[in-house]
Amino acid sequence: MEWEKNVRRADPYVPGEQPKRTDVIKLNTNECPYPPAPAVRRAAEELDYDRLRLYPDTEAGQLADALCANYGISREQLFIGVGSDDVLAMAFQTFFNSDKPILFPDVTYSFYDVWAELFRIPYVRKPLDEAFRIVKEDYMEENGGIVIPNPNAPTGILEEVGVMEEIIAANPGSVVIIDEAYVDFGGESCQRLTEKYENLLVVQTFSKSRAMAGMRIGFAIGNPKLIGYLKDVKFAFNSYTMSLPAIWLGAESVKDREYFQGTVNKIIQTREWVKKNLTELGFTFPDSKANFIFASHDRVPAKAIFEELKKRNVYVRFWDKPRIGNYLRITIGTDEQMEILTENLREIIAQWGKPT
Ligand code: PMP
Repeated sequence: MEWEKNVRRADPYVPGEQPKRTDVIKLNTNECPYPPAPAVRRAAEELDYDRLRLYPDTEAGQLADALCANYGISREQLFIGVGSDDVLAMAFQTFFNSDKPILFPDVTYSFYDVWAELFRIPYVRKPLDEAFRIVKEDYMEENGGIVIPNPNAPTGILEEVGVMEEIIAANPGSVVIIDEAYVDFGGESCQRLTEKYENLLVVQTFSKSRAMAGMRIGFAIGNPKLIGYLKDVKFAFNSYTMSLPAIWLGAESVKDREYFQGTVNKIIQTREWVKKNLTELGFTFPDSKANFIFASHDRVPAKAIFEELKKRNVYVRFWDKPRIGNYLRITIGTDEQMEILTENLREIIAQWGKPT
């Protein structure tokens, strides 16, 4: 059709499946297996429904204050968005406007190239080394911006803050975004570096460690100038991104630090014994510091395991892509869920190659 010549074509990101059935063991989208903090439930029950008539606070004040108190920052250093996907998309639009390509790893969060394509930002994927590690020198050539998740997804590998600092320091001419969606599971945040480097934006989410993927809350920390530019773009786009329930419930979640720490510790504990089980079963994997493990079996193809697990109502993530086509990304669930996973894997591996 003639009108189609002016359509902006986009290749959408494909998220992990959200099955309608509730009896599946869902280890495919890195959600938290535990509920949000109890204070969130109380706040949800007490939610003043009459207030829903009114527009929410454009600054998400309650949530912003809770985050500022938690991270020891001022409101000028904080940006809040509808999940970190929203924050990252805004940051791409705000900071990546050069003719030079932006840089990110070849194996990484697959939304980065989707946004780059959508916003017509040139980009180059820098190959991780054989062990899936970032080659820091790759990020020291001319570029129009950098985005790196730390820990990286889907590998789970954490790089030291020192490595990130070298990359940030080598790029005063471009903005470096560190996507810390999984940093709470044993990593050190680059947040303190935002005091030292104007070109650093650190992005985090409530979707994993705070068990609130359904609420859609993400945030970024940076110096006031950088954050100011980000807010200008956001407010040029939509004044009311954060819903009233997200502001209220999000604030309650941040205040309950003890619950947060307990949940994170539990997931780390589970992750460490799952690593032992997977090794016993013949899997290899990079050492994960996230709430998932990226594992490959020495004998049974990942695709076969993925399909067989699905038949048994256990969902994990698999990408039929170069370099990672023989890996499964397995989210850390409850101990009970991980025991069921292990038993299923044991059976699938024992039966592989035997006549049925
Ligand atoms: N960054 C990374 C590396 C992720 O894996 C995810 C989760 N898909 C996100 C950002 C986005 O998470 P959310 O929008 O739920 O905050």
